[in-house]
Amino acid sequence: MKIRNLIQQIRSRFDPQPQMTDEVVVKFLNVLEQARAEDCSCTDIYARLDEFVENELKGVDAEKVAPLIREHLDICNECCEEYEALLSVIEHTKEDSKN
Ligand SMILES: [Zn+2]
Repeated sequence: MKIRNLIQQIRSRFDPQPQMTDEVVVKFLNVLEQARAEDCSCTDIYARLDEFVENELKGVDAEKVAPLIREHLDICNECCEEYEALLSVIEHTKEDSKN
């Protein structure tokens, strides 16, 4: 991301204000960046999906341990499918080991 260009763009949209320092703009951008990352963190979710499913199967309250993952699964089809696939694989594995 070209931070410098963004700063220029943001500055040009506001009347020049002395308190609108680069530092303020950069903080503003950091907040945006974080919000974006939270909205679209499929990679993070994937990385923690195993753990999430295991906790759920152990009876740990997964929603309390990882509310963000639960929330993401509700809104993201791809991750939700991945989660369900993982869940069924683990459940089948368990059934096999019983027999
Ligand atoms: Zn996702």
